[in-house]
Amino acid sequence: MKKLVVAIDGPAGAGKSTVSQLAAKKLGYTYIDTGAMYRAVAWKTLQQEKEVTDELILDVVKDINVRLHYDGNKTVVVVDDVDITGEIRTPEVSHIVSQVAALGPVREKMVDLQRKMAAEGGVLMDGRDIASHVLPNADVKIFLTASIDERAKRRYKEMKEKGFDVELDKLKADIRARDKADSEREISPLVRVDDAVLLDTTGMSIDEVVAEIIKLCR
Ligand code: C5P
Repeated sequence: MKKLVVAIDGPAGAGKSTVSQLAAKKLGYTYIDTGAMYRAVAWKTLQQEKEVTDELILDVVKDINVRLHYDGNKTVVVVDDVDITGEIRTPEVSHIVSQVAALGPVREKMVDLQRKMAAEGGVLMDGRDIASHVLPNADVKIFLTASIDERAKRRYKEMKEKGFDVELDKLKADIRARDKADSEREISPLVRVDDAVLLDTTGMSIDEVVAEIIKLCR
């Protein structure tokens, strides 16, 4: 069977990485979590322990070396030879990542890497601008979303399970702010392209969403 290129876009907390990872595994495809790459740049920016300005971010991205590899189960994120997989989903990183991702030089560097990773096919890539910009010729395009309440509740549960002390209302406000920044930025904003299938996962289980994605790929 032909190895497809699958693009999944959607707002924060829609469950993209959870379902994409499982669907990629079932299809035998490589999963590419592009959000993890922007998070990696945000993480390194915070490591500088300076005020976060566009200048600082641009300085960091100049010589950052971001590598992703999918070990068949999860995406491993390596920055300058250090495995930071466990450190990119903190509230601190989430808080600044949209500022990082709005900058042209950051996007150019990441998109270049993303396209190289997808060149062989047999990939499932998720993000915000995959169908609209990174891989406009993808064979399957999906826009994954859910209600803001459901997305906030899912993220709350996930963060609590990881031991973070978070508040539901604050998380919801953060998600809303990130969606607004991601949708309204000038370069490659979050959009649903005309030929993307809309998948609203409100009230659906993880298994149901994965099954739906597999169906769209067959
Ligand atoms: O998917 P995730 O929530 O981990 O993405 C983190 C952030 O990275 C998003 O809020 C967005 O600002 C940025 N991003 C992006 N383009 C992508 C993927 C993520 O701008 N393709």
